[in-house]
Amino acid sequence: MAGLRPAGALCNLPGTPACPVDARLHELQANQERLEAQNTTLRLTHAALEVSQAALRESEASAHLILRAAPVAMLVMNQHGRITQANARAEAMFGYPMGCMAGLTIEDLIPERFRAAHRDSRNDSERPARHRIMGMAGGDFYGLRTDGGEFPVEIGLGPLQLGDERLVVVSVNDITERKKAEEDLRITAIAFESQAGMIVTNADGIIVRVNQAFTRLTGYSAKEAIGKTTALLHSGRHDSDFYRHMWSTIQDKGFWQGEIWNRRQDGKIHAEWLTITAVAKPGGEISHYVGTYSDITQNSEAEAEIHRLAYYDPLTQLPNRRLLYDRLAQALASSSRNHHHGAVLFLDLDNFKTLNDTRGHAVGDQLLTEVACRLQITLRECDTVSRLDDTVSRLGGDEFVLLLEDLSDCADEAAIQARQVGEKLRDALALPYDLAKSEFHCTASFGVTLFHGHDDSIESLLKQADLALYQAKNAGRNTLRFFNPAMQAAMDERGALEADLRRALKRRQLYLHYQPQIDSKRRIIGAEALLRWEHPERGMIGPDIFIPLAEETGLILPIGRWVMQTACAQIKAWSGNPATRDLRLAVNVSARQFRQPGFVADMKAMLDDYDIDPTRLKIELTESLVIDNVADSITRMQALQAIGISFSMDDFGTGFSSLSYLKRLPLDQLKIDRSFVRDLAHDANDAAIVQTIITMGRTLGLDVIAEGVENEAQLERLDQYGCIAYQGYLFSRPVPLREFERLLGVA
Ligand code: C2E
Ligand code: MG
Ligand code: MG
Repeated sequence: MAGLRPAGALCNLPGTPACPVDARLHELQANQERLEAQNTTLRLTHAALEVSQAALRESEASAHLILRAAPVAMLVMNQHGRITQANARAEAMFGYPMGCMAGLTIEDLIPERFRAAHRDSRNDSERPARHRIMGMAGGDFYGLRTDGGEFPVEIGLGPLQLGDERLVVVSVNDITERKKAEEDLRITAIAFESQAGMIVTNADGIIVRVNQAFTRLTGYSAKEAIGKTTALLHSGRHDSDFYRHMWSTIQDKGFWQGEIWNRRQDGKIHAEWLTITAVAKPGGEISHYVGTYSDITQNSEAEAEIHRLAYYDPLTQLPNRRLLYDRLAQALASSSRNHHHGAVLFLDLDNFKTLNDTRGHAVGDQLLTEVACRLQITLRECDTVSRLDDTVSRLGGDEFVLLLEDLSDCADEAAIQARQVGEKLRDALALPYDLAKSEFHCTASFGVTLFHGHDDSIESLLKQADLALYQAKNAGRNTLRFFNPAMQAAMDERGALEADLRRALKRRQLYLHYQPQIDSKRRIIGAEALLRWEHPERGMIGPDIFIPLAEETGLILPIGRWVMQTACAQIKAWSGNPATRDLRLAVNVSARQFRQPGFVADMKAMLDDYDIDPTRLKIELTESLVIDNVADSITRMQALQAIGISFSMDDFGTGFSSLSYLKRLPLDQLKIDRSFVRDLAHDANDAAIVQTIITMGRTLGLDVIAEGVENEAQLERLDQYGCIAYQGYLFSRPVPLREFERLLGVA
C-alpha cells in the first residue's frame, strides 16, 4: 500500500508552472485528483479485504466441520501442549462430552503411570515427536478414558503453522482389537509349538503345517510332510473301515479321538493318541483339520504289562481268577440279554500231586503248561465254543476253569453241549504226556454247572461247579459230573443210552421195519425202510429217540451205513422175484451222513458190491438238510441221480418249501408231511397246503406221495386233489420184513 507524502514536498515537484498562484492552483488540483484516485484505490482495497475476510471465516468454519466429522479421532494442540480442538471421534474415544476436551493437556489423556515419563520426553528434543506426545510403555501407547479405562492407541502427528501459531494435529487410533488379534496369534504360535505333535491339513487332507514335535515324533521334517496327505503316516495296521469310521465321526461330531498306530519315517510303528478337530469357516464349511498327536507306545506297553500281570497266570499265560470273575460277570449279563445258557466247568487233574511230589515242580509246571495248551487247542475244534479268548482260566495249582457261553436256550440241550465239550477235553487230556523224556499219563475230573442270566451269583456258580467236581472225584475220577441232580440223572440216562447204542450195532439189536407205499389202485409199489432198536431191557426204541443222539455223537455214520447196506441187500434179495423186483425201497439219510466226505463214492461202491439196480433205491432227504448247503446238495444229488438213484423230499411243507431252490434240485418226489395229512378233512388250511404241494409237484414234474394216511376220509381227499401215492397206518404200520413180505404175498 502507497503512503501519503508530506505537504512541504509539493514545491519540489517536477513540471510546475512559472506563475506562483496558477502554479499553486494547478498544484492543488493535481493533488486533489491524486487524492481522489488514492481514495478510490483505498475503497477498492477495503472492499477486497472484506471479501477475503468473509472467505477466511467461511473456510475456517468448514475446516472445523471437517475436523469434527473426520472418521478418526483428531486433536489439535498448541505449542504449550494444550488441546485447542478435538473432534467427535476423539471425545467419544476418551469419553468426554462434546466440546469438553479443549484446554486439556496430553497428560490428562494418558494413564497416571506414564505421565512423568511423558513430561521428561516432552522436554527431550532428541526424541521423536510422537514419543513426546503420548505415554509410552515398551513401545506401546495408551490412552485413558474418563471412566479410568485404558486402551492401546496408535498416533499420527502433523505440524501446522497458522499465522504465528505453531500447532500440531494429532490423529489417535484405538488398536484394542488389533492388539488382541496379535496376542491371540502369539499364543496360538506358542501353543502350536507345544510338546504334542501337531499337524494341520486343508479340507482335502493335504498337510499344510506341522510343528517341531511332529517332526520329533514321526521323523518327517516340515518340508517332507507339507504337500503330502496323511496317508504318509499309515501303518497298515488299521483297515479301511477304521479310517471310514474315523472320518464319519469327524463329519458328524466335528472331532475324533482315539488310539492309532502310525508309521515313522524310519519304518517303526508306534501307538499314538490322536485328536482330530475340524476347523469350519463361519458358514460351516470345513476349511482345515487339526490333528494333535502324543506318542503312547510306552504307555501302551507299560499298561499292557500291568494288565498282563494283573489278569494272567504267569506260568500258562491263561486268565487268572480275577479275569475269570470279570468274564463271568460279562457272561451272566450277556446271558440275561440273549437268554442263552452258559456253563462253568471246573477241571482238576487226577494225579497231579503225585507227579509234583515224585518228579519235582519243574516237571509239574511242564505238565500244567501242556494241559493249558491242549485245552486251548481242543476248544478250537468245538463248534459250540463261541469265543476262544479267555475261555480257559487257571485258578492256581492244577485247577482250571472253563467258561462256555452262547449255549442253547434250552437247558437240556445246553447241558448236552457242555458235556460234549467236557468229554472232548477229557479225552484230549487223557492222551500220554512226554515229560522230561518219559511218558506220563494223567486224567482229569470235571464239575459242571449251567447258568442262565443272573439266576445264580458268581460265587454260587463257582461253588456248584466245585461241588460237582467233588462228586466227579468221588465217582472214581476221570469223569464229568453236573451239579443239578435232576440234570445229572438225565445226563446219566443219556450217557447210558449212548453207551448202549454204541454196542447195539455190534450186538445186532438194530432192525429195519418196512412200511408199504401204495398207488391209487392200492397196490404196493415199494416201502420205506425205518430203523428200530430192540433194547435188551427197554424193548423197542423208536428212531425219534435215538437218531438225534446218534447224530450228535457221530454214531449215525456207522449206523446209517449199516441201514444202507441192509437196504441194498434187501433190494438184491427182491431182485430175483418178479413179484418184488420192481419194488422201490426208500431209505432215510441224515445230514451228517449225507455231508460226509466220500458219501457219493461209498454209495457207488455199495451198489457195485451188492450188484443191484440203482433205480430201485430212493433216498429221502429233509428240506433243512438241503437248505443248509444247497450247492453241495445239488452236486451230490446229481452225481447219485446220474447213476440211477432217485430222491424224495421228506416231511415236505414243514421247512422252507421255496420254489426257487426246488427248481434247482434234482428231485423225483415230494413227500407231504404227515402233519398236513392228519387234519386234512377238518382243517381248510391244511387242505389248501396239500393241494398246493400237489400242484407244485405237478408243475415241477415231480411225483407226490402222502405219508401218515390213517383213514379213508384222508385218502379220498388226497385222491380228489390228484395225489397218486400213499403211505400210512391205513394200509400198514412199519412192519418186520417177514410181515411185509406176507403183505406182498410172497412169504
Ligand atoms: P419219517 O422219515 O418221516 O418217517 C415216517 C414216520 O412216520 C415213521 O416214524 C413212521 O412210523 C411214521 N408213520 C407212518 N405212517 C404213519 C401214520 O399213518 N400215522 C402216524 N402218526 N405216523 C406214521 P418212525 O419210524 O418213528 O421214524 C421217525 C423218523 O426217524 C423218520 O421220519 C425218519 O426221519 C427217522 N428215521 C427212521 N429211520 C431212519 C434211518 O434209517 N435213518 C435215518 N437217518 N433216519 C431214520
Ligand atoms: Mg422218511
Ligand atoms: Mg416224513
